[in-house]
Amino acid sequence: MKVPFATMQVMHKEIRKEMLDKFTEIYDKGWYIGGEECAKFEEEYAKYIGTKYCVGVGNGLDALRLAMLALDIGEGDEVIVPSNTYIATALAVTYTGARPVLVDPDLDTFNLSEKGVEEAITKKTKAIIIVNLYGQSGDMDEIIKIAKKHKLYVIEDCAQSHNSLYKGKKTGTFGDIGCFSFYPGKNLGALGDAGAVVTNNKKIAEKVRAIANYGSLVKYKHDYKGVNSRLDEIQAGLLRIKLKQLDKYTKERQRLANIYLTKITNPKIVLPKVGKDRTHVWHVFAIRCKTRDDLQEYLKKHDIGTIIHYPISIAKQKAYKDDKLNDLPIARKIAKEELSLPLYIGMTDEEINYVIDVINKY
Ligand SMILES: *Cc1c(COP(=O)(O)O)cnc(C)c1O
Repeated sequence: MKVPFATMQVMHKEIRKEMLDKFTEIYDKGWYIGGEECAKFEEEYAKYIGTKYCVGVGNGLDALRLAMLALDIGEGDEVIVPSNTYIATALAVTYTGARPVLVDPDLDTFNLSEKGVEEAITKKTKAIIIVNLYGQSGDMDEIIKIAKKHKLYVIEDCAQSHNSLYKGKKTGTFGDIGCFSFYPGKNLGALGDAGAVVTNNKKIAEKVRAIANYGSLVKYKHDYKGVNSRLDEIQAGLLRIKLKQLDKYTKERQRLANIYLTKITNPKIVLPKVGKDRTHVWHVFAIRCKTRDDLQEYLKKHDIGTIIHYPISIAKQKAYKDDKLNDLPIARKIAKEELSLPLYIGMTDEEINYVIDVINKY
């Protein structure tokens, strides 16, 4: 049996007609940027997440970058970023002119807790970016408490945590701004690049919208030296269809993850843990293993696809070699031991049981 790391085939087959009809509708209407589909998606997504405002943008990296620009973060500022995350989180800080300051996450949940964050705060610190990595929230009560004490902004990187809850509320609603990516492979994915910013603050929402549209809210009147990063009509229209399925998709990912959690019994494998007061949406099912590379090779021989999130920590990336970022022990350990198992909508019981069987025999 062959099990890919991920595939969208089953998911997209189910909604094929609705998606193609929507495409045809937008195609025929002939209005492709800044129209009704984007406005409706923004309204529906804000309602779904539980914030007052949502602004569609070009991608997840831009959502983070625009969030910081709207908060006037830039040259001379520092922003706290987890040491193990996709490089986009750090790059977004770098692009504003500020400096990312890396802090190790909790090894159990792969997410920031209060540990280490407070020590990393200096006079230059402006914000904490909490990344709800792999699909579960960080310890928001603790993070918000520290942020309040030191008067810092909190930005949530929710690129992997659509529909994930902390104390019953969705990620993206806790900080000043929540940033989402709708890259095709995310838990809510477009058929191209797309992203969004959510917030309860009207001024922030308007500023993000302006900066993302050449610094302009009124045509040919430019208040900021903005960029071009907009959510187009086709992606917005298709996202509206997939958003209606997101509760169902989330439940299915949780069902599959629970099968892994109960049936993987090999003592060489460290299973992921869900922190207290939160739900996990399993964008990534991340295990740890001391002999990770050997395990990956073994699974490959058995036709099982896996991915490492992430093989080189941000501090060790060539792109950051001149920045002398903190090279931290937990980031190094995760880069050496983490392996992500197959998990996708449409994965059959036969497929998941095959993966479990092969892993338990390792
Ligand atoms: C995917 C991702 C991003 C970037 O999103 P894009 O839409 O690819 O720009 C940012 N942060 C995290 C944690 C991600 O996983």
